[in-house]
Amino acid sequence: MSQARFTRRRRNLIARIRKLGLPALLVTDESNVTWLTGFTGDSSYLLIGPKLGVLISDTRYTVQIAEECSGLDVEIRDARRPMHDAIATVTTAAKLGALGFEAHSTSMATWERISAAIAGSNGGPELVSVGMVVNELRAKKDSGEIAEIRLAVHQAERGFAAMVSVLEADKTELEVAHELEHLMRRFGAEGPAFEPIVAVGPRAALPHARPGPTLIGESGFVLFDWGAKTTGGYRSDLTRVLLTSKIPPKLEAIYGVVLNAQRKGIKAIRPGATLKSVDRAARRVIENAGYGKFFGHGLGHGIGLDIHEEPRFSPVAEGVLEPGMVITVEPGIYLPGWGGVRIEDDVLVTRDGHEVLTSVPKRFEDAVVQIA
Ligand code: ZN
Ligand code: ZN
Repeated sequence: MSQARFTRRRRNLIARIRKLGLPALLVTDESNVTWLTGFTGDSSYLLIGPKLGVLISDTRYTVQIAEECSGLDVEIRDARRPMHDAIATVTTAAKLGALGFEAHSTSMATWERISAAIAGSNGGPELVSVGMVVNELRAKKDSGEIAEIRLAVHQAERGFAAMVSVLEADKTELEVAHELEHLMRRFGAEGPAFEPIVAVGPRAALPHARPGPTLIGESGFVLFDWGAKTTGGYRSDLTRVLLTSKIPPKLEAIYGVVLNAQRKGIKAIRPGATLKSVDRAARRVIENAGYGKFFGHGLGHGIGLDIHEEPRFSPVAEGVLEPGMVITVEPGIYLPGWGGVRIEDDVLVTRDGHEVLTSVPKRFEDAVVQIA
């Protein structure tokens, strides 16, 4: 991506920092650092404000920073010099009266070390928690980011189709999960967006089941939750249930409820719609069918450099949708001991409505597969 993107993002952030009345913000969330600078390494912080922009990193990354970033000062530390010392060097040189920090990505231990290090003879700059200010900016994707997410969707869908064509009843969940990861890489992904979920029958009742030794053919259906990560770091996230043998009528009924709920949720997506109202539109369908207490999680989450990011659809979420946001819609019904159905797509908020970025078929008849 061109450097102009990163400069523009930093400029937008600086306007927010000014509004907060702060001279600088210490960005410690790694994805936020990447989003603001283009730097793809880890263990590095960005100190940014109207009068300064310093990437604080270590000697492993000197060359990489020169290749990936421009328009920033760089403070490089070696193994003998801890991060909080490097931060103190920069804040002292800048004579800061206060310093914003990201509470969500700063542990208590890190906070204590930093505040001790920057406290000079006069007490040093006051540390002020700024909340999710960078994460909120990241919620609206620019055209380059949307193109990256489309690519991540494409890689996930190609990999999934190839995996389904070689699915066999006597493979284990874990073997199939590994195969899916491998196939997504074959279609250009850097790797999976997260460890894929492959959950057979009753195991699908666990919203975050880990693939294990259960055989694919052991029950009549399998839940897949998977996504790809592009080399640019952007992610996709999908869920489908495949029906592998004689279908219990109860499954067909539950599948129908979940699909209807998902369609109602997607239909409610447009600029200005509240996050709560979209969750409501889907949740109401599940509640009316009598399964309300079996849908415990929020309806969806933003995707981007992270697999779960802002905004979130939930009954308590505050805020409204804006063009450029990319968010999942993933209602589910989970019956302990019996199994679960979840259907998940990735949706872009457009200027006048929405576009569903994922296209794996999801009608009940599409879910039926023949396996060897
Ligand atoms: Zn998912
Ligand atoms: Zn998801």
